[in-house]
Amino acid sequence: MQRSVEIIGAGLSGLVAANRFAQLGWKVRIHERNSELRMFGAGIWLWESGLKTLEAIGAYDSAVENARAIAEWQIRDGKGRILMSRTANEQDRLLLPPRADLYQALIDQAIKHGVEIETSSVAIGVTPDGTATFEDGKQCKADLVIVADGAYSRVRESILGTSWMDFGSQVGIRMLIDHKEGDIDDTLIEYWNGPWRLLYNPCTDGQNYIFLSAPVNEERGRKIPIDQKLWMEQFPHAEDLIRRFQEAGRWDRLVNVRCRKWHEGRVAIIGDAAHAMPPNLGQAANTAFINAMALATIITESTDVPLALQRWETEQRSITNHVQWWSYLYGFVLGNWPRSLQSLRSDLISAISKTEWFDESLNLGARHVPSGYVAPTHRISRY
Ligand SMILES: Cc1cc2nc3c(=O)[nH]c(=O)nc-3n(C[C@H](O)[C@H](O)[C@H](O)COP(=O)(O)OP(=O)(O)OC[C@H]3O[C@@H](n4cnc5c(N)ncnc54)[C@H](O)[C@@H]3O)c2cc1C
Repeated sequence: MQRSVEIIGAGLSGLVAANRFAQLGWKVRIHERNSELRMFGAGIWLWESGLKTLEAIGAYDSAVENARAIAEWQIRDGKGRILMSRTANEQDRLLLPPRADLYQALIDQAIKHGVEIETSSVAIGVTPDGTATFEDGKQCKADLVIVADGAYSRVRESILGTSWMDFGSQVGIRMLIDHKEGDIDDTLIEYWNGPWRLLYNPCTDGQNYIFLSAPVNEERGRKIPIDQKLWMEQFPHAEDLIRRFQEAGRWDRLVNVRCRKWHEGRVAIIGDAAHAMPPNLGQAANTAFINAMALATIITESTDVPLALQRWETEQRSITNHVQWWSYLYGFVLGNWPRSLQSLRSDLISAISKTEWFDESLNLGARHVPSGYVAPTHRISRY
């Protein structure tokens, strides 16, 4: 008999899970609280783990159609010195599509796979027997319920209990700006100045993605519209970019979430609801994708859902904890290092980032091969 899964939240994690479960023969319904499907954000870094997931579910081509292939990610300090250089290539990819492209590709593919998408469907709770309850009084029972309602998850609290939510000391602002002739088009450049950061990302032929982060207590740093004068003071060499800043409509706190557990009975929790992390490595969604892929494989192979969920969590926790810890550490070094010791920070990062240990640790999640992935026989080279 066909097994069923109810998924709460049509963000990136919920949609990847929906695609994979439907592909493996499950009857899938996804509930989104908003009245229409929309994605906030500018661009998104997709590493090998995320790209392989997209290949597995058949959403790769349309998700990355307009994406820039990135050859290098650099961190530079206030004096312009390169502290870290992480290269990418066809075997170790980093592509940067607009979020809207990725989201639309996941929706289109979910529809093709027969996923039922219900909007204006607001979940208020779940129980271990696999029942989800909604604001309008409706209840849905399934073999499995997946909670994917984001970092500020309301549903998680009804059963799984957050063990730790750290609102962080930084805020982030994202926007797309017009691409200009002469802009670098294959290198991500992350400029650091004390706890301030300006990240330049070539995104498509016509647009660049900018990410800014600032200490949360700096009111001017989180001002919308963006205080160009302030950002020019912090990053004078990026003046030409800063003059093009306009579109940003909001700022976000860069939060960290850790849950006591990711499952109970027939309920599993994935994505930011389970393990939100600050976007320092650009790996949070990529990590959610590999967890969703593993979840689908393990549950499909088993008839005992609670036992399979236990196995899934045991297998996926360590890599997730690793990525989350590195992301946290990275943000800590950026945001909390004493200003008087900036050159020591530069020296240390510059030395450590050249070691094999650093490369392997930073990229463990990014290079992870998702469960169930089979390499395509042919792929158009992006490099
Ligand atoms: C500034 C920034 C930059 C980032 N950059 C990257 C990057 O480059 N690469 C990367 O891998 N990750 C990145 N991330 C992280 C990535 O965006 C998240 O990990 C990912 O979007 C989380 O997806 P999600 O589906 O788990 O949660 P969400 O995107 O929060 O989706 C949750 C969905 O559930 C819905 N929902 C909420 N409550 C309910 C309810 N009660 N009932 C029904 N539906 C509900 C919401 O409306 C939403 O659609 C970044 C994050 C930030 C903040």
